[in-house]
Amino acid sequence: MHDLFGEAAEQWCAIENRIRSVLSHFGYKEIRTPVLEKVEVFSDTVGEDTDIVEKQMYTLLDQGAEKLALRPEGTASFMRAIIENRLHESAALQRYYYYLPMFRHERPQKGRLRQFYQFGAELINDASAEADAEIISLLHQIYQELEVVEYEVRINSVGCEECRPRFREELKQFLRPKLSLLCEQCQKRFERSVMRVLDCKKESCQAVLKGAPLITQFLCAQCEAHHHDLKKRLTQIQIRYLEDPHIVRGLDYYCRTAFEFTSELLGAQSALGAGGRYDGLSRRFGAKPFPAVGFALGMERLVMVLTEKGKLPSERKTPFYYFAALGPNAIDLLYPIALSLKKKGIWVEMNYDKSKSLKALLKQADRSGSSFTVLVGDDEIKESNAVLKNMNTSAQEILNLGDLEAALFKKGSPIAP
Ligand code: AMP
Repeated sequence: MHDLFGEAAEQWCAIENRIRSVLSHFGYKEIRTPVLEKVEVFSDTVGEDTDIVEKQMYTLLDQGAEKLALRPEGTASFMRAIIENRLHESAALQRYYYYLPMFRHERPQKGRLRQFYQFGAELINDASAEADAEIISLLHQIYQELEVVEYEVRINSVGCEECRPRFREELKQFLRPKLSLLCEQCQKRFERSVMRVLDCKKESCQAVLKGAPLITQFLCAQCEAHHHDLKKRLTQIQIRYLEDPHIVRGLDYYCRTAFEFTSELLGAQSALGAGGRYDGLSRRFGAKPFPAVGFALGMERLVMVLTEKGKLPSERKTPFYYFAALGPNAIDLLYPIALSLKKKGIWVEMNYDKSKSLKALLKQADRSGSSFTVLVGDDEIKESNAVLKNMNTSAQEILNLGDLEAALFKKGSPIAP
């Protein structure tokens, strides 16, 4: 879990702003959910035998002895909130996004943290391939906007409840003779949810899976048509994609479209962002079924790629004025002016140390990166003057103390000519 401060915090903020701007251009509205949820929000929906629920959730007992979890992923919380607030009951297509911290008790490694931030977008009440293509193009646009180009868009269809049972059976038949070669966890998965074996990251399990049947060979006519339409749309809007039948996603509630944006720049944890269609999830909350599709993108991995490519937005913000107030009388005089200008939207930096020397104050002014420094000491007060120094050109000008605030406002005002 990381602290974020200084220039990095500013860079994050600039990235966040750009992402929010793309999301709002696509019509997505923010939704925020609490960091704590009842544990069942995840265990009953994401799946008891997923890594997230089985091993990675931070859980705690609250005072009423109810088990709570720190949110490990966004979609289940989002669904809980949609259903609890009955937002799905309007038949119309709706678009939401979230930007929230997630918590997973993972083994820390490059690109894998225990608290990390995800932007997620979710589109509900539309089952079409166009909705899937919109979600994929939105994620694509976010990366384009940030000038990230080194990634691949991988898509797959994981079928639906109609076509998956036959695939599960075939996969079981394929794996049964090799069961002892699978890891302990995959042996358990074999019984409970065999498709999850496909998702196992262990090389030994991946080796066993060589030559296994592919879900795409078992799609029913509707899933096949949906997948075909998605590809047609992606081609139409010029998004290059790869078909990757190995993408199944660790979570149980996906159906039809599943996709990942992967980048070799990330090393082993190559998924920049990922998502899919999860029409089956609402039923697990006891609600009437309604279609939904979405993605989640990890901020830390995005920042890693931007850092690697030297594309971090550099928007260093610096004060407009640095008030170098030399001694208590000057502080007395400049203090209310600083506050007044700040209230009017002009960034003023000021030090309140009454014993700072002129040299120390000027050094601080320099460091602050301000556009102008306003210098006032006892000598200036006697003369009823202030010195205004342009920090770029070093040119100085003398201002009258009597109307200092008005003069500074005029110079610094965002609405002044
Ligand atoms: P997931 O919710 O596992 O589908 O992950 C969606 C995205 O979140 C991934 O593509 C990553 O960018 C990011 N992500 C997932 N787990 C972590 C983690 N432990 N640390 C940092 N980023 C993560």
